Amino acid sequence: MERKKIEKSDFEAIISGSKDIRDYMEIDPLQGTVSFLGVRTASNPDYLVRSIYEMYEVNLNRKLAVKATEQLFRAVGLGSVGLNNFLKKLGMNLSPSEFLLLVFQLQHQQGWGAPFELVSHDEKKIVLRTRQTFESQVMKDWKMPVCGIHRGWIEGILAAITGKNWFCLETKCRANGDDYCEFVADQTEASWKWKAQAIVRGDSAITEYIEHKPIEGKVRLIDEPVVIMPRFIFTSMTNSLIKTMGEMSAGGVNYRAYMDMGRENVEYYKKMGITDPNTLADMAFTFFSQMGWFRIVAMTWNEAEKTKTITLEHTVESESFGNAGKKVCYGTAGLLAGIVEGAFGIKVRGKEISCRSKGDPNCVFEIKNRNDGNGS
Ligand SMILES: [Zn+2]
Ligand SMILES: [Zn+2]
Repeated sequence: MERKKIEKSDFEAIISGSKDIRDYMEIDPLQGTVSFLGVRTASNPDYLVRSIYEMYEVNLNRKLAVKATEQLFRAVGLGSVGLNNFLKKLGMNLSPSEFLLLVFQLQHQQGWGAPFELVSHDEKKIVLRTRQTFESQVMKDWKMPVCGIHRGWIEGILAAITGKNWFCLETKCRANGDDYCEFVADQTEASWKWKAQAIVRGDSAITEYIEHKPIEGKVRLIDEPVVIMPRFIFTSMTNSLIKTMGEMSAGGVNYRAYMDMGRENVEYYKKMGITDPNTLADMAFTFFSQMGWFRIVAMTWNEAEKTKTITLEHTVESESFGNAGKKVCYGTAGLLAGIVEGAFGIKVRGKEISCRSKGDPNCVFEIKNRNDGNGS
């Protein structure tokens, strides 16, 4: 099929509303293709939309599933750089907000994106509003701000055409009972601190920042190199320590080694600009938990006894050792104590008082102050 040549006047007609995309759509029922400006498109994405949200929901909570959907569609938005270059070649230099409105107008007429109204805009902040988006209709049963697809598109489009990082939040959503969906895009540098704080607040999960290059043998977590280890390394290492120095000493060495690691981990966060002790501790607990070391069930503070009690489900050691008939989590006890020492600048002792490997329902740790200057 011969394709019509698209001119600057065509885009101007679409923007002004005197033409719409029907003039540029090609439907070929025999081939089963629909295209707009020569690019394949399609309609009725409801099933696709729901399956994406539900695929992420399997491993994340709903808020994080919306965020993961946003990340996915950010990549789609980045592709708009092609249209932007084409418009420039035609001699059209649209501002970022004008370009955003055009992209969504084109998307909307194809049955996807929402037609936006510009609420306000400057170089660093753009606020957009729409009566509803398709995902706010499809996912309305979630009863929360769900428009991750539009957030991702907005971020991706703005990043593609400005060459800078943008972060988009949905401040109002039809799926959350508001009268419209409102998006606030901020041009901001996504520093380590910014990303780490989003993880601690529960706005992001660490999976968003894992950069895995298996072919190169590299894994990074928020720009820092990490490695994936098999869990049985804990039984393997502890058993070799026991062989060389006996069980008591092996427990002590593990405790000490992991305590140093917990402390050094917090020191690293301090270097990245985190200063508040509670944030430092929460950050370390959240990161280790999301890396698979344990799940935090409860944390309590007893003022009279100056004791912090931490209840964990499935520590890496208790899972690795299985039912051993005794407490096994020396490394975890040291790690927790090291985190508290590093964050609060105090000396503490960590002790495991119940353990899954001993048959208790959870592993429970007590962290108390110590004054003896001795690490164990
Ligand atoms: Zn919405
Ligand atoms: Zn345990």
